[in-house]
Amino acid sequence: MGSGRPQAVHVIGAGPVGLMLTALLQSMDEFSVRLYEKRREYTRTRMVQLAPYLVADSIESYRTDAIDGDSIEALFDPLELEKGLAFRQSMPADLTALLHDWTVGFCPLNAIERSLSDLIDARGSNGLRRSATVISAEEAETMLEPGDVLIDCTGSNSLLRDHLTPGSSGVDDGANTFKIRLEYALVITFLYGQPYDCNEYCKYYKNRDNAQYKFIPMVHRTHYDGSVSHVTGIVNITAEDYEAMPSRFDGQWLRSNFPGVAESMDRFIDKIKQETDGEIIGDLQIVRIPLDLYRARNATNRKWLTAGPSDHPFASSPVFLAGDSAIGSPYFQSISLGFESAMYLAGLLAQHDLPLKGMLDRYEVFMYKQWLRVYMRSKMIKHNKDLFESVDDPLALLDKLHIY
Ligand SMILES: Cc1cc2nc3c(=O)[nH]c(=O)nc-3n(C[C@H](O)[C@H](O)[C@H](O)COP(=O)(O)OP(=O)(O)OC[C@H]3O[C@@H](n4cnc5c(N)ncnc54)[C@H](O)[C@@H]3O)c2cc1C
Repeated sequence: MGSGRPQAVHVIGAGPVGLMLTALLQSMDEFSVRLYEKRREYTRTRMVQLAPYLVADSIESYRTDAIDGDSIEALFDPLELEKGLAFRQSMPADLTALLHDWTVGFCPLNAIERSLSDLIDARGSNGLRRSATVISAEEAETMLEPGDVLIDCTGSNSLLRDHLTPGSSGVDDGANTFKIRLEYALVITFLYGQPYDCNEYCKYYKNRDNAQYKFIPMVHRTHYDGSVSHVTGIVNITAEDYEAMPSRFDGQWLRSNFPGVAESMDRFIDKIKQETDGEIIGDLQIVRIPLDLYRARNATNRKWLTAGPSDHPFASSPVFLAGDSAIGSPYFQSISLGFESAMYLAGLLAQHDLPLKGMLDRYEVFMYKQWLRVYMRSKMIKHNKDLFESVDDPLALLDKLHIY
């Protein structure tokens, strides 16, 4: 740092978050980024949505989420929020334009990945080197030269999360991970040939005859692109259901193997058709996933730095987790949080006068606040979903209310 030579930043994992971080650092002359990715192609077609707060142009518009808004005000100082806003406003125009596009509605995950990847390639390298390779934890440790920065963006099965504290490496998987399983769910997506939007009344009315397996379209997760609506929602399932299902399947498989869920979907979809007189296009696309909320207890290697002298590479160079490797959350919030971690980290690395310890401490505090924010939001959504399941049964509903 400060030698006049660009500082090498190793980014492992070129999913959406590693790509965003690379695009941000590539536009700063003081860094030369090495980006490592094991996949040769971007093939994940699932439709995802980004939070509008990513392109907010004021603190007020950053806080418009019905559940998140108050938490933001409670957790962050106004000055912190203003700095975040100022960083977003200073981002390169090509990147900001992409963010604006993605926050309009749904888009396939691979469209986000490809457009970021293309943008990075089109800009001219500015010291960037990309390698198509699987990196092991040992390789990550040995690639670090003094003064380099290492950022793990390898997703939920993070490469380095459990290597960030001295003594834990390879001994205790999950040592640095705190995880809560909120529920098991089917994520069901379908296309509908008419405009369709959904609010809480609609969710109730269309599920009125579904005692079990209610389909809950996510608010804002219906998107009409001029000819079809993309609808995504979740159905709560039991652990036994989850075990008996393949990871991905279609409506036909569902009908043959879980007719109860299929009938519930039929009732929901029939009511949409009665309202808007459209048809489903193609089949249902279904994935079954555990909805986990987790965080890395340490999102940096600061424990290595305070543990006393050592010749381990993590004892002298900064290591950060960003995106799903640091925090994972259900209910379609993770990429947005990951992008925020990338933006905050890029802003932090750009402050050359910050001592290493200060930099790591600041990142830890930021990530802890993001964790509290998403923890509260996810617990609230889960609680509301639980109440919704019993909304026609006052006694069951009261059992779930802990009022005082
Ligand atoms: C069904 C479903 C729907 C979702 N919908 C939404 C949504 O609407 N909104 C939202 O915000 N989020 C959504 N998510 C979550 C979202 O997909 C993730 O939060 C996001 O992909 C995380 O980005 P990431 O870059 O941190 O990690 P990943 O996308 O997991 O990327 C990690 C990258 O690292 C690479 N890698 C891993 N290990 C190595 C290694 N050792 N060496 C080299 N490369 C490596 C991988 O190949 C991958 O490219 C959804 C998830 C699912 C399952």
